[in-house]
Amino acid sequence: MTKKILILPGDGIGPEIISQAEKVLAFLIQERGVKLDLEHGLLGGCAVDAAGVPMPEETLAKAKESSAILLGSVGGPKWETIERSIRPERGLLAIRSGLGLFANLRPAVLFPQLASASTLNEDVVSGLDIMIVRELTGGIYFGEPRGIRELDDGQRQGYNTLVYSESEIERIARIAFESASKRQGRLCSVDKANVLEATELWREVVTGISKDYPDVELQHMYVDNAAMQLVRDPKQFDVMVTTNMFGDILSDLASMLTGSIGMLPSASLASDGSGMYEPCHGSAPDITGQNVANPLATILSLSMLFRYSLSEAAIADKIEQSVSQVLSEGLRTKDIDAEGMTCVGTEEMGDAVVKALSSID
Ligand code: NAD
Repeated sequence: MTKKILILPGDGIGPEIISQAEKVLAFLIQERGVKLDLEHGLLGGCAVDAAGVPMPEETLAKAKESSAILLGSVGGPKWETIERSIRPERGLLAIRSGLGLFANLRPAVLFPQLASASTLNEDVVSGLDIMIVRELTGGIYFGEPRGIRELDDGQRQGYNTLVYSESEIERIARIAFESASKRQGRLCSVDKANVLEATELWREVVTGISKDYPDVELQHMYVDNAAMQLVRDPKQFDVMVTTNMFGDILSDLASMLTGSIGMLPSASLASDGSGMYEPCHGSAPDITGQNVANPLATILSLSMLFRYSLSEAAIADKIEQSVSQVLSEGLRTKDIDAEGMTCVGTEEMGDAVVKALSSID
């Protein structure tokens, strides 16, 4: 049966980078006979403009019928002051929870060709290969009550709630243990158990589950120390598992170890294996429409889509090989450019990846 892929370009640089991933898809469908049905939909600010809400029902319905979703990015200054409940980022949270996408996998892998693009010393980052597993549908981003209220003394108070149930912790921990057992067998669980009761429970539950994975060496680390260690000696980590907010922050930090946030893909998975794939970065309003955005994080997200939701590891490997090949050829977008390299635009980088792909078998 032909599988359906839903494409949500979103806002800002979203449509520009998604177009490059679509070139790769078109090549695979037309030239390599890969059978896929592509559909398009609206999410984020573009959906607010067209339908008045950041995640129209039609988008969720199409998403539920698809094997996987490829998303660009959402948000931007245009929608920053509209009513909070219909801001673009709410659309993102809504589709994640609507599809039960509780596990966010963010690999931070340094392509050897980019070792000098990192702001850290080459010897600190070369060979870096970390998998950050972030819980995505719970924690403080979803906890109730939340809001801004007025206190008796007239001043306003903002409040959010950090909540995690045992089952939410268990299912994300199992994804992380499974991932670690297929890699180097080391898992670091990141929390703030010394201060936050919700993560005291997190630590207890993760420790309990570790008994089912005797081949995985489990370590616990406070989030403040984890941030420091990621900069001091990132190669000590294999797989990291953490809460929604800590994962959000640590994975952005890890992106800079790899040279640019423009290189970092992500997968958000549901328990049935379906998933949404998107670059870790946002809609980059500062560079929108200039043909300078790096499309490689999106193309690498497409590779994850083939690997995790379509079980097409061979295609995923070829896409990653193509990205590596264009980097070896010295092509760089502005964010990863360096002396002696050839600086190209978004479109040219997309074309180069397709050309490299066409040269592989
Ligand atoms: P951002 O990731 O959009 O940009 C941060 C910096 O990285 C900017 O200087 C930008 O130019 C650069 N950058 C990002 N992607 C790049 C790429 N592919 N190539 C080259 N440079 C790139 O983060 P921000 O500025 O904090 O947020 C901008 C908007 O994006 C906001 O509305 C925010 O809410 C939204 N956002 C969306 C997502 C998402 O869709 N998943 C994630 C984060 C932020």
